[in-house]
Amino acid sequence: MTIDRELIRKRANYLCEYCHSPENISATRFTIDHIIPKSLGGSNNLDNIALACRRCNERRYNFIAGYDPVTSTIVPLFNPRLQEWGQHFTWSTDGTTIIGNTPVGRVTVSRFDLNDSRYARKDSIVSILMTLATLGKIQSEILVHFG
Ligand SMILES: [Zn+2]
Repeated sequence: MTIDRELIRKRANYLCEYCHSPENISATRFTIDHIIPKSLGGSNNLDNIALACRRCNERRYNFIAGYDPVTSTIVPLFNPRLQEWGQHFTWSTDGTTIIGNTPVGRVTVSRFDLNDSRYARKDSIVSILMTLATLGKIQSEILVHFG
């Protein structure tokens, strides 16, 4: 079965379905993520596919679950086909950090390292989010002055 990449990109509103970074400011096209990885028998059906930035897709690797230290349980990673992002994640007030609010949210933030907490390089998601937050502030100031 051929994967309709444009349909998947449009369905995701051109955002990574995990970190919500926008594809149009990425240097590369986003990737097709298999929610249940093909290596574990996942299919190419649209209900098993999400749009993911290269970074999130690489961090997922072939993981489908993670350990939540708060509840001491193993829970599945966030599934954008079955779950609402806003039920498991929120943004920090400055818009630069993704907070996992549920076991699913917490293990996904950890597995995908959505806030660059495991790596010294702050060159991708946090950087993009900080840039967007800055641009949003600039836009707000422009609207206030020239609106
Ligand atoms: Zn991402």
